[in-house]
Amino acid sequence: MPAVVETDVAIIGAGPVGLFAVFECGMLRMKTVVVDALGEIGGQCSALYPEKPIFDIPAHPEIAGADLIAALHKQCAPFNPMLMLGRRVEGLRQDGEKLVLTTSEGDVITCRAVILAAGAGAFGPNRPPLDRLPEFEASGAVRYLVSRREEFRGKRVVIAGGGDSAVDWALSLKQLAAQVTVVHRRDKFRCAPDSAAQLKQAAERGEIELAIPYQLHGLEGEGGVLTGVSLATLKGEVKTVPADHLLAFFGLSMELGPIADWGLGLDRSHIQVAPATCATNIPGVHAIGDIATYPGKLKLILQGFSEAAMAAHAIHPQVFPGEALHFEYSTSKGLPVPG
Ligand code: FAD
Repeated sequence: MPAVVETDVAIIGAGPVGLFAVFECGMLRMKTVVVDALGEIGGQCSALYPEKPIFDIPAHPEIAGADLIAALHKQCAPFNPMLMLGRRVEGLRQDGEKLVLTTSEGDVITCRAVILAAGAGAFGPNRPPLDRLPEFEASGAVRYLVSRREEFRGKRVVIAGGGDSAVDWALSLKQLAAQVTVVHRRDKFRCAPDSAAQLKQAAERGEIELAIPYQLHGLEGEGGVLTGVSLATLKGEVKTVPADHLLAFFGLSMELGPIADWGLGLDRSHIQVAPATCATNIPGVHAIGDIATYPGKLKLILQGFSEAAMAAHAIHPQVFPGEALHFEYSTSKGLPVPG
């Protein structure tokens, strides 16, 4: 059900920089709501390189992407941010002194200020170019992620893709699905070598059907009920595999989407901000992290952290008009108790 919420600061993007902005706002007693298009927090660190080490986070000689996000989550947890995941922020309008954001799920978020920590834009799945795709997406027959494995018990599942997600889910779902077919356009898989070996063994035992070298060609069925997926070779040979579900794992793409139409000052898909405050040309809207640009900008997580602090301090007067903000170290004031 769509949510209607009111907060001090709405943060768009739960990447490393958006999460640290929760902390910085919290230290100044500002309540936050964080919205992300992805179903999990962490932005690029979680979606693109959870296991890759990062070497340039201060005080961490080496830290994996996923561990950095877990630490940031722990650091901001005392401020109880409301996390709204799996929804894309699309609309922005002014309502008197306040700003109102709307999401792809129909949520309405009213706030005093917006922090855009949207990286390179909302992450979304790369969709296969198939006719009638929206019809089967709407019914849930075609999906790009698995939220509940149990939903596939006894179902005929076609999995498309050659990376870790495709292979890992094929190996997992074969234990409960009626049939699993993996479609890939070449013989070689781009996944962990051990997973590729397990896939081959499962295929030899007849637990998984491999359709190689094939590509997705079409969807069959009526009224959103999928009955089969047609596949084609590069030479044009077509065959149909009976299926209740298609799981397509072709990676993620990022796009700025409707934010690009808000009237923000843009410089090649980045938002121009005033370096000292991260303020954009729209009053009350600040941009930090990868999405923000100004002379000398470095697209590094550590620079995004500093921008989060500057934006939070700049926003404070909008949330608490007339209240003086005295600069203090975290050690001298401790963690404020959320109100
Ligand atoms: P992101 O991490 O991109 O997060 C933005 C979030 O906003 C995303 O989750 C997205 O879904 C969400 N979002 C966007 N638009 C919307 C919307 N309209 N509605 C809802 N949600 C939205 N940096 C370093 O400092 N050191 C490194 O060693 C390093 N290594 C890297 C290695 C790789 C392979 C890659 C790809 C990047 C690396 N980076 C590194 C860069 C670093 O990951 C980015 O600088 C950092 O992730 C930026 O953080 P962010 O929070 O600004 O944006």
